[in-house]
Amino acid sequence: MVFTKVSRFGLYGRTGVLHTRAGDVLTPTFMPDGTRGAVKGLTPQQVIGTGVGIVLANTYHLHLNPGEQVIKKLGGLHGFANRKGPMLTDSGGFQVFSLDSHAKVTEEGVKFKDPISGDIRMITPEKSIQIQLDLGADMIVAFDHLIGLKDAKPEDVKDAFDRTHRWLERCIVEFKKLTKDMIGPDDPLYKVEPCKVKKRPMLFGVVQGGLDIELRKKSLRIIQASDVDGIAIGGLSVGETREEMATVLEALAPLYDAKRPRFLLGVGTPQDLRIAVENGIDMLDCVLPTRNARHSSVWGADDVRMTLTNEKYKEDRDSIEVGCDCYTCASGFSRAFLRHQFKSGDPLAGTLASIHNLRYMMRICESYRLFTAPATIS
Ligand SMILES: [Zn+2]
Repeated sequence: MVFTKVSRFGLYGRTGVLHTRAGDVLTPTFMPDGTRGAVKGLTPQQVIGTGVGIVLANTYHLHLNPGEQVIKKLGGLHGFANRKGPMLTDSGGFQVFSLDSHAKVTEEGVKFKDPISGDIRMITPEKSIQIQLDLGADMIVAFDHLIGLKDAKPEDVKDAFDRTHRWLERCIVEFKKLTKDMIGPDDPLYKVEPCKVKKRPMLFGVVQGGLDIELRKKSLRIIQASDVDGIAIGGLSVGETREEMATVLEALAPLYDAKRPRFLLGVGTPQDLRIAVENGIDMLDCVLPTRNARHSSVWGADDVRMTLTNEKYKEDRDSIEVGCDCYTCASGFSRAFLRHQFKSGDPLAGTLASIHNLRYMMRICESYRLFTAPATIS
């Protein structure tokens, strides 16, 4: 069983305990991006201190440098990055498509230019699965065809939609081949630790279809009929409005099966988080909270964005958010001190602001976990 102790709130929201091979995680949960294996500027202990349960790492970046074979040799992501808790890798697709505007899609895979060496490389669905298994993440994502939604032609959306499902089949074949000697999450031993049997990671299939509601529903039906452990919603937060994103999530909310975790890829303002969670999403990742924090932008009460380098904070004794229980606020770092550190170029400022922003996201998640109306898993 992937989930236990599931409770519900609102029409479609739910809380629960997600069982991964690296430990249990309470949901809903926000997952910070540890792009190169670690959340920028934070130690694993500082990340845990914010309440974060899962860290996401980027397959694309780690594949290019230092390479999955180096990481595998050094104990996988857990050993290499010194992280004990669950880790998730994305498929590498998002970075291939977003960082190389000349990336060339064929039925075989995607060719792109290595930004370090200039060499032409290729990621195929099989290669993405191989890399992610070598990296040793506990949850991995099938390789999908992503397109930007702004000005996307309907025929391009349909083309990416069809290719995503063809690639999913190839991902599943490769995944089964490489994990045939491991037990899956439905095995009673999966939750037992220590366990002599090798456990495989969970595989997520990706729902595509742009802003076309019927395509999105069809994609979800295809993914849920496939042999995957989790449902990922891809291709959002790539140029559409918040209302357009909400429309897609609202359309999908009644259609999820209850047994699998639902992961919304790359979405992450506090407002987006609430929309997603109230529409049945269990997990979200985004680089935004920590990237913003490193650039002095933090969330205060009621989601107000504050720029800590602002002159008005020069003599401000208050913490970022009065009453916040994060390390930065609770231990008394003032806005004036943080402003000074940012102005001085001290990376401590980015670390302290990142701790606050992550905790801000996790406090929203935790507020939903207070709901306890029981729900069944079918
Ligand atoms: Zn705080």
